[in-house]
Amino acid sequence: MAVNILAFGPNGSGKGTQGAIVKEKYGMDHIESGAIFREHIKGGTELGKKAKAFIEAGDLVPDEITIPMVLETLAKSKEKGWLLDGFPRSFAQAEALDSALKEAGMKVDYVLEILLDRQIAKDRIMGRRLCANDNNHPNHIAFEAIKPVEKEGKLVCRVCGGELSTRPDDQDEDAINKRHGIYYDTDTGTMAAVNYFKKTDSKVISVDGSMGIKEVTTAILAELD
Ligand code: AMP
Repeated sequence: MAVNILAFGPNGSGKGTQGAIVKEKYGMDHIESGAIFREHIKGGTELGKKAKAFIEAGDLVPDEITIPMVLETLAKSKEKGWLLDGFPRSFAQAEALDSALKEAGMKVDYVLEILLDRQIAKDRIMGRRLCANDNNHPNHIAFEAIKPVEKEGKLVCRVCGGELSTRPDDQDEDAINKRHGIYYDTDTGTMAAVNYFKKTDSKVISVDGSMGIKEVTTAILAELD
C-alpha cells in the first residue's frame, strides 16, 4: 500500500534533508512545491515567470497558480505514494488539499512536524547551498556532517562534486522573516494548516529539529511503521 506523508517544518528546519531520507524508506515520490517552482523558473515556463517575483520577495505564490500545480503532481504519484513538502502553507491550502484528497481517494497516513525555534531556523537558512545536479544533495556550510567539499579553490557538492549556489531568497533577511511570519502564523498560516491536519486521523510525528541530522532521522524513523 502506498504511504502518504505531509511534512511540516519552518524553512531551515531540515525538512528537505529528512524528507529525502524518509522517501528512500518507502520508495515514494518526494514532492516539494518550492522545488517545482524553481524548476519552472529555470525552464523559463509561463508558470515560472508568474511565480518568480513572489518567490524572490518571500511571499506566497497565489493559490490559483499553486493549488492546481501541486494537486496535479500528487495525482501522478497516487500509486507510489508521496511525501509532500512545502504544501499546504495556509489554512486555505489545507482545506483545498483535504477535499481534493478525499475526492481522489487518497489519505494522509502521517503528519510529520519538525519543531524549531525561529532564530535558529533563520541562522540555518543563510548557510545552505544548492547542488546544480540534484536538489536532494544536502550541503550546508555550518554543519560538519554535510559541509560542501573544496575542489580547485571552490566549494562543491559533497555528494557528487556538482556546482553549488545559494537561493536568492535564502540570503535576503526580509524575505526570510516574511517566510517565517507565514510559517509560525497559527491563525491562517502554515501552523494553522499543521493544526488542521493534526485533528484528522493521520498519525502525528513531532520531532525536535534542533538535534543533529542523524538524531532527527532516528527520531522520525522510530515513529514510522
Ligand atoms: P520553499 O522551497 O518551500 O522554501 O519554497 C520557496 C518559495 O516558493 C516560497 O517562499 C513561496 O514563495 C513559494 N511556495 C512554495 N510552496 C508554496 C505554497 N504551498 N504556496 C504558495 N507559495 C509557495
